[in-house]
Amino acid sequence: MHQVARLFAVPVALFALACSGDLSGAGPAAPPESISAIDTATINGHIRVLAHDSLLGRAPGSLGEDRTVAYLESQFKAIGLKPGNTDGTYIQKVPLVGITVQGAPTLTFSKGGTTKSLRWRDDYVAWTKHVAPSVSVAKSEMVFVGYGTEAPEFGWDDFKGMDVAGKTLVMLVNDPPLADSSKFGGKRMTYYGRWTYKYEQGMKHKAAAVLLVHETEPAGYPFVVVQGRVSEQFDLVTPDKNLSRSTVEGWITLDQAKALFEMAGQQFDSLKASAATAAFQPVPLGVTASVKLNNRLRTVDSRNVVAKLEGSDPVLKDEYIVYTAHWDHFGVGATVNGDSIYNGALDNATGTAGLLTLAKGYAAMKTPPKRSVLFLSVTGEEQGLLGSQYYAVAPIYPLAKTAANINMDGLNTWGLTSDLTVIGLGASELDDYARVAAAEQARTLRPDPEPEKGYYYRSDHFNFAKQGVPAFYPDQGVEFVGKPKEFSKEKRDDYTANFYHKPQDEVLPGWDLSGAQQDLQLFLTIGYRVAEAAQMPQWRVGNEFKAIRDTSLLTKGAVEPPK
Ligand SMILES: [Zn+2]
Repeated sequence: MHQVARLFAVPVALFALACSGDLSGAGPAAPPESISAIDTATINGHIRVLAHDSLLGRAPGSLGEDRTVAYLESQFKAIGLKPGNTDGTYIQKVPLVGITVQGAPTLTFSKGGTTKSLRWRDDYVAWTKHVAPSVSVAKSEMVFVGYGTEAPEFGWDDFKGMDVAGKTLVMLVNDPPLADSSKFGGKRMTYYGRWTYKYEQGMKHKAAAVLLVHETEPAGYPFVVVQGRVSEQFDLVTPDKNLSRSTVEGWITLDQAKALFEMAGQQFDSLKASAATAAFQPVPLGVTASVKLNNRLRTVDSRNVVAKLEGSDPVLKDEYIVYTAHWDHFGVGATVNGDSIYNGALDNATGTAGLLTLAKGYAAMKTPPKRSVLFLSVTGEEQGLLGSQYYAVAPIYPLAKTAANINMDGLNTWGLTSDLTVIGLGASELDDYARVAAAEQARTLRPDPEPEKGYYYRSDHFNFAKQGVPAFYPDQGVEFVGKPKEFSKEKRDDYTANFYHKPQDEVLPGWDLSGAQQDLQLFLTIGYRVAEAAQMPQWRVGNEFKAIRDTSLLTKGAVEPPK
C-alpha cells in the first residue's frame, strides 16, 4: 500500500505543478463565428463614420456628442445587444462642468519694481477647476518645489514640511531622474510623475496655484499639446464645486521658466539638478505671481454609452467582463495648418470602432459565454479620464463582480505584427490569457517600449485598476510583418510630432487594418476565456492595486472570506 501510494503521489504532485504553470491563461477557443465576424470592412466602416467631419471632433456636450451617441446607440441596437444600463437604456449620464477661460489673460511675475508679463498660449496656459465665474491669484509668492513629490516608500519628500498654503508652486514634470532604479520606476514613469498628481499635490498643500515647467522629453509631448488644453475644460462636478483644488493650474514654457529663475537670481539647470536628489529643499523664489481668469461656465450631462451581452450561466452571468474605449475627442478648436476639426481618427475612433466590432463578434456567438460582457464607450477621456472615473465610482454593476477590464485607446493601423505591446505587462493574470492567445496567433507579448511616458496612467483602464479591477491595456506591436525594423518607431515618432491631439489626426491614406483585426480577434479570445474561466483573474503579488482588490472582494461578498 505504501509503495502504491508513493507511486501515485509523484504524478499527482507533477500534475498540480503543471496545472499552475500551463492551465493559467488557457481555455476554450472562441466560437469561430465570433472570430470571423471581426473583419476589416466592419472596423473601417465604423472608423469612417466616427472620424468624419460631421461628428465635429466628438467633444463632450456638443452637437458632435449627440451625433456620436446616437450612432453608438443605433449600432449596439442593430447588433442585437441589450441596453447596458439597469434603467433599460444604453446611456449612463455623466454630469460634467465645462469651464472656458475668456480672452487672453496675462500672467505677471513681479520682484521689487520689476515685472514680467507672460503671454497667453505662447508663454503659458492656465485654467481653473473652480466652478466660479472668475478667479484670481494676486501677488502670490512663488516657491520651486522640485518634482512636488512625496513618496515615503522611496524616502522622498520635496516639501520638507514647508507650509506652502496660498503660494504658487513651480514644479517639474515626471519622476526625479535617478540612476538608482530601485527608487521610483527607473525608466518607467510612476503615478508620482503624472501631471494630474502634481495638481493633486497643489490641492493637498492648499497652494493658490501650480505651474508646471514644460519640457518636451519628460512630459512626453511638445508644448503645442499643452496649448490644446486652453479650450473648454471639463471636470466631474463635486459637491464643493471643486473649490478645494488650487485656484489656478497651468504650465509655463521652459524658456519662461529659465527667465523666471534668472529673475529670482537662480539658475534653472542647477536647481533642476538639486531637485533630482532626496536632500532637495524647496526654494522660495522671491517673485510673486498674479493672474485673473474670467470663465464661461456650463454644466453638461455627457454620456457613457453601454451595451450588454448577458452571460449564459445562471450564476456567473452576474459577473462581468468590461471592454472600454473612449468615444470623445477635442471637438472644434484652434486651427492648425488650416484645419480646426479635431477628428481623433486614431484617438479614438479606432478604439470605438474596435468596441463595436467586438460587440458584433460576441453577438454572433451561438451561445454567449458564461459571464456577461459589457461594451462601455466612455466620455471625457481627453479631459482627464472623466467618463471612466464616473463609471468606476458609480458602477452600474458591482466592481467586486467585475472580472476584468480590457481597454482600447488607439488601434494598430499599419498592418500585421508578430508581437503585441502590453502596457504594464506583468500586472495581472490577464497577461497569461494574452500570452496564450497571442501564441495561438504565433505572436509574442512585449512590455511598453516607452515606459517613461507613463501610458499606464493615461487611459480609461486606470480608473478600473485604481478601484482594484484587473485591467488590461494593450497597444500595437512593434514588429511589423514584412516591414523594416525601424518602421514602428518611425510611425510612432511621426504620430507624436504631427498627429497626436491635432486636427491632423484623420484617417490616413495607406492605413492597413489587418493588424487591428488581428488584435481584436485576440482581445475577443482573452475576454471570452476570462468569461468562461472558473475563477476571476487576479493581480500579481506585489502589484500596487492587489490590496484594493482583495479588500473589495471581501467586503462586497463576491467570494467567501477565508475561514
Ligand atoms: Zn485616447
